[in-house]
Amino acid sequence: MERVYIGLGSNLAEPLQQLRGALAALAQLPNSTLAQHSSFYSSDPLGPADQPRYVNAVAALDTTLEPLQLLDALQTIEREQGRERKAERWGPRTLDLDILAFGQRLLNEPRLQVPHYHMHARPFVLYPLAELAPQLTLADGRRLPDLLQACPFEGLERLPASL
Ligand code: ATP
Ligand code: MG
Ligand code: MG
Repeated sequence: MERVYIGLGSNLAEPLQQLRGALAALAQLPNSTLAQHSSFYSSDPLGPADQPRYVNAVAALDTTLEPLQLLDALQTIEREQGRERKAERWGPRTLDLDILAFGQRLLNEPRLQVPHYHMHARPFVLYPLAELAPQLTLADGRRLPDLLQACPFEGLERLPASL
């Protein structure tokens, strides 16, 4: 079993429901157990500013799937929840599922770079991740407490559990 952290994001078609649907789908993945998930957060959009705010969370999955098998499964869930891939980078989407960390693996494949290349700059990834694994050390040696220090809690709002 390896511990995988997955970043979830949505800003279209009922984002809270999209995240709940995604968590239910993650819990159904073969050879995997959904161990935990963070609170939900509302966040400023990355990229084009003329799009709705996002809802984000991070999930912890224990799995014996190989990384590319998991990526295929995550992309299937994205498609099933209506994700359309457009030319515009970081445009609005019903669901984004990104692999943040996969055990202690360092992956640099055409389809998959792990740890996620831009997580250090994303408060909507680092703060929910810190709820689950505050002392996490990434496969490349970077420590989450140091990444948090360098990434202010800005444009981010932790949503109440009752939502
Ligand atoms: P960003 O990766 O900057 O968050 P994005 O999530 O909007 O952007 P997508 O359109 O969801 O980007 O994915 C583009 C491609 O990124 C996918 O087809 C996938 O092959 C690749 N990819 C590379 N590394 C990862 C990763 N760690 N997790 C998910 N997808 C990845
Ligand atoms: Mg993404
Ligand atoms: Mg993605």
